[in-house]
Amino acid sequence: MKTYLIIFIAMFTSCTQREDFKTFPKIDAHIHLETADDSFIKVIRENNLKMISLAYDASSLNNIQRQLNYSEALQKKYPRQIAFATTFSMEDFGEPDWQEKTIQWLHDCFQKGAVAVKVWKDIGMTFRDKDSSFILMDDKRFDPVWDYIESEGITVVNHTAEPKNCWLPLDQMTTLDDSSYYANNPQYHMYLHPGYPSYEDLLVARNRMLDKHPGLRYVACHLASLEWSVDEQAKFLDKYPNAALDMASRVTHFKYQNRDDVRNFLIKYQDRLLYGTDIEILDTERSESTEEELKELISTTYLNDWEYFTTDKTFTQNDKVKEYQGLNLSEKVLKKIYYTNALGMYPKFADILNYKK
Ligand SMILES: [Zn+2]
Repeated sequence: MKTYLIIFIAMFTSCTQREDFKTFPKIDAHIHLETADDSFIKVIRENNLKMISLAYDASSLNNIQRQLNYSEALQKKYPRQIAFATTFSMEDFGEPDWQEKTIQWLHDCFQKGAVAVKVWKDIGMTFRDKDSSFILMDDKRFDPVWDYIESEGITVVNHTAEPKNCWLPLDQMTTLDDSSYYANNPQYHMYLHPGYPSYEDLLVARNRMLDKHPGLRYVACHLASLEWSVDEQAKFLDKYPNAALDMASRVTHFKYQNRDDVRNFLIKYQDRLLYGTDIEILDTERSESTEEELKELISTTYLNDWEYFTTDKTFTQNDKVKEYQGLNLSEKVLKKIYYTNALGMYPKFADILNYKK
């Protein structure tokens, strides 16, 4: 009798949670949309989800424009569901008119509806100066561009560096996610490339840029590449009051840290954290429609994260953490992390939605 009751409660609870996910207002603040197949919008609407698509890769204007063609079209057609961030090109960086051309480019992008400027890890890890030294985030030639973005009230959303695991040997990495990724992509495994900037060099340069531009609104992607320690994330947020963190594809790093520390961190910094997944919906690399693809992602990525944040269930994981407990966050905290913080950091999107705090 008792067993039946427990099963019934478990079924009822999990059913309610699934329903809660569907209706709860959510913004995925970090995704990459490169598709002309808009059938996924149906799934977005059914799940009360909005998305902010981030352009990335500064290697060429052509490549950036190709991405923006998709996101601008989606934003135009579905302005209440989709927002987008542009990025800028590093072609001709170092030429005397690079700043002027870049500022004009960004101006045009803002006119076309971009709510933010994404800056990817290739600044720091790819582009080199004429003397072959790496161009880092604090390079003074970027300063007029950061000043312009700030003067327009636009946000910089920046992926600097990589998870700390990237600089460790495979067998010392904290997640299987990371060790399998770097095993398959040795070109990105910095442990194998000592000639590249170190983890510390990249973060110090990023912080120096923020020191120079205290008024810039800034979202640090992937938990500011401090995913391994909520204490370090707290220090970063304390030092930079205009910054927030997105947790895109780093939720798994919370799970091997002390559960109370993580929970207390999320509660204390509930106004400074953005939910995001880093999923890609692409025209290539998929066999089914984007509707099917997003349905699949909802039932895996999105619902796994949702259950972790909303329940105190004990989970078993196929990653290195054998067992971890959900964080059981309150509705008030969830609403900020899943929705209102993104609107606070991307006020142009809030304007489109007529959202008032
Ligand atoms: Zn991304």
